Amino acid sequence: MTKEEVAKLVEIVAGRLAESQHGGRWLPTPTRPEPPGDPTPGQLPVWSGAAQGLSDIAPTRRGAGTPKHRPGYPAMVAASRQAAAARGPSPLPSGTLVGADRAVTQRTRREVSIGVSNRHLHVSLKDFESLYGKAKAPSVLRAISQPGQFAASETVTVTGPKGKLEGVRIVGPARGATQLELSPSDCRELGVEAPGVVSGKLERSVGGVTIEGPAGKDALTSGVIVAQRHLHVAPADGKQLGVADGDKVAIECGPAGRRVTLHDVIVRLGPGHATELHLDLDEAFAAGVKTGDLAVIVARTAASAKGKRRPLLTERDVAALAARGEKLSAHGPYLLTPAAVDRAKALGAWRDEA
Ligand SMILES: [Zn+2]
Repeated sequence: MTKEEVAKLVEIVAGRLAESQHGGRWLPTPTRPEPPGDPTPGQLPVWSGAAQGLSDIAPTRRGAGTPKHRPGYPAMVAASRQAAAARGPSPLPSGTLVGADRAVTQRTRREVSIGVSNRHLHVSLKDFESLYGKAKAPSVLRAISQPGQFAASETVTVTGPKGKLEGVRIVGPARGATQLELSPSDCRELGVEAPGVVSGKLERSVGGVTIEGPAGKDALTSGVIVAQRHLHVAPADGKQLGVADGDKVAIECGPAGRRVTLHDVIVRLGPGHATELHLDLDEAFAAGVKTGDLAVIVARTAASAKGKRRPLLTERDVAALAARGEKLSAHGPYLLTPAAVDRAKALGAWRDEA
């Protein structure tokens, strides 16, 4: 056989083999994988390549707890997608806000511990007397996290149109007005529709349940609420957490797989508060958290964005103010550029303050 004949034979054999294995084609046609279904509205599709989840290949956690120095990957992924879609702040530490109101929302990352509140009753002295008889006041079973408050030994039975809850704990000491704090599940069980409001704000509260103690019962005409999730902040912690009374914060919590971000968490800062995030049982179950777990403040909306931010005055602003006879100083409700300070001094509109 000549070399040419061998080459021809090889070609024929290869051709037959290819035909038998791939239906006549030497190589299978490459197929492009189909992108998975419709992306979640408002999010870039996963297959776009933007900020893919990496938590499975690059875990950031060692042991339990929230990472201290950088956010968890799911949070970073979500933030990156939002930022890429110009809907949120950049996830970078020095990131500026994109598509969000700069003056209103700031990103923070501060940890607070969680306290889960079961249904409970704050009771007025008058109502307590009708439940437990005169000459008795709520007695301390154990102290709770908020200074001066305690879980009382006394409990009541709450009856609504549809059901009954027994052993509802009284939280003492007695208050000016009776307030029954339920979770949405409790409301369903009792058959009442209580509004979600800030504790103590009873204008929108409802009645329609009866509370009963060993000495008597009381039909409530108001005072039944679902307490809005809130963050108690001790005065000393406000600065460190970067929050003020009345702010709303977004808080991230929960173990991997059940992690949630809770929005509209109202900040209650002042004397008599100990720093703690208060959730009801429904919220805690949904997020998979329990008392003592940590949560992270991830964003803040200031109660009064205006007035808290000091405007930056330039030379031109200073000249205009000086022309109106106003004086400036280093401690005013504004920020001054160095050139503006020089200008103010040159125009005799500077007041030195110790
Ligand atoms: Zn609370």
